[in-house]
Amino acid sequence: MAEKRKFQAIKGTRDLLPPETELWNRVEQTAREVFGTYGFGEIRPPIFEPTELFARSIGLETDVVSKEMYTFEDRDETSVSLRPEATASVCRAYIEHNMHALPQPVKLYYMGPMFRRERPQKGRYRQFYQIGAELLEALQQSQGGAKDIPKDAAIDAEVIEMVMAFFARLGLESVELDINSIGHNAQNCRPAYVAKLKAELEKVKDKLGPDSQRRMETNPLRVLDSKLESEQAIIATLPRITDHLCSDCAAQYAELKRQLGLRGVAYRENWRLVRGLDYYMRTTFEITAKGLGSQNAVCGGGRYDGLVELLGGPSTKGIGFAIGEDRLILSLQEAGKGAVAQGRDVYIAWMGEKTLATAIRAAQELRQAGLCVELPPVEQKFGKALAQADKLGARFALILGEDEVASGLWTVKTLADGTQKKMAAAEIVKFLKG
Ligand code: AMP
Repeated sequence: MAEKRKFQAIKGTRDLLPPETELWNRVEQTAREVFGTYGFGEIRPPIFEPTELFARSIGLETDVVSKEMYTFEDRDETSVSLRPEATASVCRAYIEHNMHALPQPVKLYYMGPMFRRERPQKGRYRQFYQIGAELLEALQQSQGGAKDIPKDAAIDAEVIEMVMAFFARLGLESVELDINSIGHNAQNCRPAYVAKLKAELEKVKDKLGPDSQRRMETNPLRVLDSKLESEQAIIATLPRITDHLCSDCAAQYAELKRQLGLRGVAYRENWRLVRGLDYYMRTTFEITAKGLGSQNAVCGGGRYDGLVELLGGPSTKGIGFAIGEDRLILSLQEAGKGAVAQGRDVYIAWMGEKTLATAIRAAQELRQAGLCVELPPVEQKFGKALAQADKLGARFALILGEDEVASGLWTVKTLADGTQKKMAAAEIVKFLKG
């Protein structure tokens, strides 16, 4: 006999099951509603893309691309990867479908699974879900430069406001927004700052751990991300980018803060909030939530003018964010906002073969009215039917015996208090929904 093998979900992946999936649906529905009111439409890009797309956009030297992607060879021998994030796909789609010819800016949101070969822990999975949005704006000839600063800042502020409105609509109150400006790569502020940071890091190199020593060479800004306890006091003494912004970047940052104030969005300035890639510029933000332990970031975002161009498209500005949906769900549950309606509305206790046709019709009508109905497939004894209704958490039992069918007066039992009422079939939907 063949050996029995038990299969399990792969480490870092999991089954999302009812009733929790109700909560996932509610979160996603809320995102659709809120983002829709800001003029965003949904994009559903494919789950795998050419590996090169991610290598180019996220960067070969990042952990995500260098060691965390699920990569395989397609039939034509090209290398493809499961998407570790979706910004690259959205930019590719923007270019592929000539969206620069549409009225600008183009506002898109997405939701779905992402894949990274990370070390699994609470709030960190290998298949996880993101809800994100990107706002892309192809540059017209008259645009660009300092005169766009107020407009860009207003756009950034509105995107941030939208995420905060989404969290508020979900009832998640304990979130905190951190913002920063990381300057501009093409102008002189960031390169000069990074050079200065690197020089300062050289002086304290011996006191840094191996990760920071490596990052110091490959990507000095990322040293500021370090959570290592022993490095915190050293990092506190390092030069801060907000003191080194050029006048345009400083003006944009000031206007962003003013705009957030106008919108009633509370924020904290965090000079250590950085992005490691060249095309990220100016506005960066992160939202953290309580009850998540060390993996407390629920949303990361920022401005990335230049990414579309890097992927072969026209000169285009962009800002976007990605919310970690798994962490958002955890946080809602921790905050006691994760309750979902459970159980059936109605259990139809039908007795006697002659009542079956009426029971089926009743189930169809009640379901059409949006009620959740359990219709037992075979006849049950009265006591068993009620016990089953109780077990399923039904609110009402609709009792259909031959007498009820003949008289047209059906019995509705409210299971919470055991009261019973006889009523005409036509009144039942109203009563059950009321
Ligand atoms: P990132 O795309 O790395 O900027 O991440 C954006 C958000 O996605 C983070 O703030 C997290 O909430 C979430 N996230 C990233 N990686 C994971 C993961 N492995 N498991 C669960 N959530 C993740």
